[in-house]
Amino acid sequence: MTLSLYDTMTRQKRAFTPRDPHRVTLYVCGPTVYNYAHIGNFRPVVVFDLLFRVLRDLYGDEAVLYAANVTDVDDKINKKAADEGVPIGVISDRYLAAYNADAAALGALKPTFQPRVTETMDAIITFISDLVAQKAAYAAEGHVLFDTQAFPDYGKLSGRPMDEMIAGARVEVAPYKRHPADFVLWKPSKPDEPAWDSAFGPGRPGWHIECTAMIEQALGLPIDIHGGGIDLVFPHHENELAQGVCAGHGHEYADVWMHNGFLNMGDEKMSKSVGNVALAHDLLKTYPGEALRWALLAGHYRQPLEWTGELIEQAKSALDRLYRVLDDSSRFLDGVPTAARASGGENRGALQAHDAVLAALRDDLNTPLAFAGLFQLADHVRSSTMGKDVAGVERGRSLLLEAGQLMGLLTADPRAWFQGGADDDLKLRVEALIAARGEARAAKDWPAADRIRDELSALKVEVMDGPAGATWRIKEQA
Ligand code: AMP
Ligand code: ZN
Repeated sequence: MTLSLYDTMTRQKRAFTPRDPHRVTLYVCGPTVYNYAHIGNFRPVVVFDLLFRVLRDLYGDEAVLYAANVTDVDDKINKKAADEGVPIGVISDRYLAAYNADAAALGALKPTFQPRVTETMDAIITFISDLVAQKAAYAAEGHVLFDTQAFPDYGKLSGRPMDEMIAGARVEVAPYKRHPADFVLWKPSKPDEPAWDSAFGPGRPGWHIECTAMIEQALGLPIDIHGGGIDLVFPHHENELAQGVCAGHGHEYADVWMHNGFLNMGDEKMSKSVGNVALAHDLLKTYPGEALRWALLAGHYRQPLEWTGELIEQAKSALDRLYRVLDDSSRFLDGVPTAARASGGENRGALQAHDAVLAALRDDLNTPLAFAGLFQLADHVRSSTMGKDVAGVERGRSLLLEAGQLMGLLTADPRAWFQGGADDDLKLRVEALIAARGEARAAKDWPAADRIRDELSALKVEVMDGPAGATWRIKEQA
């Protein structure tokens, strides 16, 4: 089964063939760490984490190298550091730690590399020198600029004519630019701003060259897949590509360019400048990370996705449905004597649905179809459970877990999932009531046992008596 991916450059879905199946390379543009990231910033994180998982599944965990960078040199970081009277590293470390914690809570695996601009400065400076040597860059008034006229294919990725690119880039047409579309590779720092020494004078890099150099340092150019949000196609990726090709290291940059659509709030892109943001950090206090992950994957990654309370609730109840099947089937298996358990059981229906999930994911990450496959798989597990087909339940459950976990979902213990909505106070109260009910029943005090059951029911708690004693879960909402 092949993987097909939509490529922004050729504007078509194509079969993916890595240059080297033992060394598959993926790079995704990451955040600028000056504040908590909003949930829209995590759409590329979750989408490309899913791609990372699909690639690992196809080529092997060790064969896939994924670099997701961090921009830790930026005006907004400078400003925040100045406001707090601390070095920029204090700000970027703080928000990078928060970002990584949120990404992990959303089920994202750690990328193989997380390069930072401050740790790539030498490579950035070398790359700029190479561009100057190739006559693709020139120095002017303390700046080094990329000469867009040196790259005949400039504009090919975004498909924009030059005049539109000039307007779209909103580039400052400084008098020292040879062409209005030329962009900065190195610029002098303002007084009191951090500066790095270089052959072009003390200063700091432009945004685009940072990524190109980080790719070169972390993965080596060219790479197989380059990803990011759709807003990065122009000018960021167009400029990365121009730099990468013109540095004289080879004529290719990335085989496939992938871009996720926007996460919108209301009719607009969620963005800090508009102010219509929901921080992942805050959402995670209310919702399980898996529910937010499901919500981010509910639409196809190239389409815009509207972020609403309803979307999150639907995601949560979709997961409830799957976890209930896992919980019910595990309770059923708990009641089966070990001798009656069989390994190597079959569940043809579940296997077909499992394969459909894989096929959907390998078809340009078609997550809506993959979710439909997970529900079908769960239906097979449910019917095997009802039919008391021990081997079918065992096989079906493991296929469901495998397919779900390939998507970074169904990683919780089902019982813990249903108790997850309960706060610590409620948990303690429920445990105490269950213990009291056990004592009442042991004492054959049936009225007391009934009263406690009613009390638990009022707390929307369902108690289940099993061979290992009583367990509980939050009741299914009607
Ligand atoms: P930024 O910190 O704005 O440079 O964004 C980091 C990453 O998040 C980039 O890949 C952006 O394209 C992406 N991104 C930012 N806002 C959104 C959004 N509302 N929807 C989807 N992706 C976004
Ligand atoms: Zn980038």
